[in-house]
Amino acid sequence: MRFFPDLAAAALIAACAQAAPAPAASAQRAVAVVAGGCFWCTEADFDKLPGVLSTTSGYTGGKVANPTYEQVSGGDTGHIEALRIVYDPSKTSYAKLVAHLLRTVDPLDLGGQFCDRGYQYRSAVFVADAHQRRIAQASKARAAAVLKKPVATLILPAANFYLAEDYHQDYYKKNSTKYRFYRWNCGRDKRLAEVWGGKNKRARPTRLRSWRHTQRLDWAKFRDPLVTAKGERRAHVALDHLETLWINTGTLCNLTCRNCYIESSPTNDALVYLSLAEVEAYLDEAQRLGTREIGFTGGEPFMNRDAIPMIRSALERGFDVLVLTNAMRPMRRFDEQIGALLLDFRDRLTMRVSLDHYSKAVHEAERGPGSWDKAIDGLRWLAAHNAQLAVAGRHMVGEGEAQARAGYARLFDGLGVAIGAFDPSRWCCSRKWTQLPTCRRSPRPAGASSECRRAR
Ligand code: SF4
Repeated sequence: MRFFPDLAAAALIAACAQAAPAPAASAQRAVAVVAGGCFWCTEADFDKLPGVLSTTSGYTGGKVANPTYEQVSGGDTGHIEALRIVYDPSKTSYAKLVAHLLRTVDPLDLGGQFCDRGYQYRSAVFVADAHQRRIAQASKARAAAVLKKPVATLILPAANFYLAEDYHQDYYKKNSTKYRFYRWNCGRDKRLAEVWGGKNKRARPTRLRSWRHTQRLDWAKFRDPLVTAKGERRAHVALDHLETLWINTGTLCNLTCRNCYIESSPTNDALVYLSLAEVEAYLDEAQRLGTREIGFTGGEPFMNRDAIPMIRSALERGFDVLVLTNAMRPMRRFDEQIGALLLDFRDRLTMRVSLDHYSKAVHEAERGPGSWDKAIDGLRWLAAHNAQLAVAGRHMVGEGEAQARAGYARLFDGLGVAIGAFDPSRWCCSRKWTQLPTCRRSPRPAGASSECRRAR
């Protein structure tokens, strides 16, 4: 399980678990209890099954009454994160549910599930009677035969089921972006594809390439937001100021650049999509914290259909807004709406366009054929609509800073776009993306110098 702090941190941990009486079974309702590692994922995997009426996340199998999430994830309670499923026996069966569990876990794993380690994350079937036990044993034997390896999924007697905190119920629905990020990082679907491969229609190889930097992290160390892997209280620093809130609108992009920091592409939907409602909740917090600026990035922010209302909402609340875009077709779909934003909020809205280099050849080597002309068209369009502009560029290995800035200056002059390319104090290391100074393109007599301000 992962913890994702909100801006003001904390406040997310809900009340203690409560013992939950099992719902009464009837001809239309029956109950199964299973464990598949993180219960956020188990719930998501079972909610979509036909015949499942409801699911509840909780803890079971241990000796501690009314355990908290912190206690269970700490591993000393004997409880396992589990899911109670109420289903309609006329539409599905206990056998189908157990088979579904085995196909949505790594049944070979003795030490937990995926990135969640420890007994509390073991896969298990909690059987209520001899009939359920026989079905579970048969299903386990079938899985072992298919995989040709012993199956480690536990078959345990049903026990008191304690509801998990409200925060955990329907987590995948209430926090879809965080949930998807967690699931991706945990490597669940990747491992399912490895274990079950073509034997499992549900386990498809993830479309996501690994996010190299985060994959190096030992996520087990960050399981608990308050306590380290060694059981020590984490140090913390109070948040007293937030200058800029960056909002990642999603990882989808119309391009697949070779060195994209987040491996965006037309199919990388690991972070798709932050909604307007979610952004407004963050903006509420940012207002309370006195934040000055909201930055929008991605992926390409304009791949998110809520991009314009998100930007407008931030501007209407009085924030300065900085949008990072490749200025290509996704942005141009919104010409009219962006034009309206520029009319209403030009002084507080900055569009930062990514140009990988001042030459078409190098830019397209990174970004793909055909990417240059469209980006330049977008840059020109923004300039023609008096947008406050910045450009993110970089210089090549063996190319000096002065040479690169001179190249960008020539480009901007040739385009008639007023962006100052010379500001050595804003230039950083070789081969890094660098933001060039922002210039206000205010109406002025031909030949007058532009009024520039430093990039943020
Ligand atoms: S345009 Fe930006 S977000 Fe899209 S792939 Fe390239 S670097 Fe990544």
